[in-house]
Amino acid sequence: MHTQAPQAIGQQYDGRSPFPPAQQRLSVHAGQAALTATIVIAPFIALACGIWLAWGSGISLTDLLLATVFYIATGLGVTVGFHRLLAHGSFTARPWLRAVLAVAASMSFQGNLIGWLAAHRRHHTFSDRPGDPHSPYRYGAHPGGRLRGLAHAHLGWLFSSEPTSAARYAPDPLRNDPAMLRISRAYPALCAASLLLPFAAGWAISGTLYGGLTAFIWAGLVRIALLQHVTWSVNSLCHVIGERPYTTRRHDRSTDLWPLALLSFGESWHNGHHSQPDCARHGRAADQIDPSAALIRLFERLGWATNVHWQAPDFLQHHRAVAGKHTLHTSARRPGGAGDRA
Ligand SMILES: [Zn+2]
Ligand SMILES: [Zn+2]
Repeated sequence: MHTQAPQAIGQQYDGRSPFPPAQQRLSVHAGQAALTATIVIAPFIALACGIWLAWGSGISLTDLLLATVFYIATGLGVTVGFHRLLAHGSFTARPWLRAVLAVAASMSFQGNLIGWLAAHRRHHTFSDRPGDPHSPYRYGAHPGGRLRGLAHAHLGWLFSSEPTSAARYAPDPLRNDPAMLRISRAYPALCAASLLLPFAAGWAISGTLYGGLTAFIWAGLVRIALLQHVTWSVNSLCHVIGERPYTTRRHDRSTDLWPLALLSFGESWHNGHHSQPDCARHGRAADQIDPSAALIRLFERLGWATNVHWQAPDFLQHHRAVAGKHTLHTSARRPGGAGDRA
């Protein structure tokens, strides 16, 4: 269980020192660490192998199409399902759509539903303060600490011994949503399906076992590695590099990073997201491409999504007025700058 201690420590945090050690630690089971390492490293090795294979013989059109389809399906599952729907309640979805999105997201090898929600909500509770499970400022704001922190925010936190209480941060699916609980528990089976489906599709389309194997590498392992690293880059890079046009809570250093916008389905407009976490659209300005928000809009038109939290029409106007008043644009680009709201 997480105690009140991090909040108390967070109040005294100066915004630049390394975070104090956590009050509670888990002894990480060697088997668990090995499993996490496999889930993290195997797709990455496949990514290297896939590039090497493609260099020699080219990638088949079937592999490319299957990889794209699985990347989009599981990626939007994470962004629209896990993140905007379940973690932040940005909209209400029909029960079948909720289940489809949760299943698709669970096939992305990013942890089970309950664990994902709990860690992410904790990140918003303590953004870049002690208690944040994956802040790049954990080891301090000086360049060396920031570099070490980037590795921690990207990957290292997955091996952390600091527990995140599911009862505290994800009580809703635990208590009142048996379907979500079942999907969370089915995570290992859904991971297996995430590898077997591309293999079966590649085999069926090409008619050869070799076609199944290359689809397994490209649309299975390589696709998983790419999506994992794009998602984790939002945790790491999108708190260090980029612009901070919007006000966030004190110490929160989330950024907007345009090069990742398309691959992350709009999630790299991360400063926009932290400025209003329950908004269904993370790209706050009209020219910020946000495919996840476009899908939610489509669901809304089809009547599958209701109660969608869109930003107020006068948001940008209001923001510009506030920015002008407090010279936000010049100060906010510096992490931890005076644009931060206390
Ligand atoms: Zn964040
Ligand atoms: Zn979020």
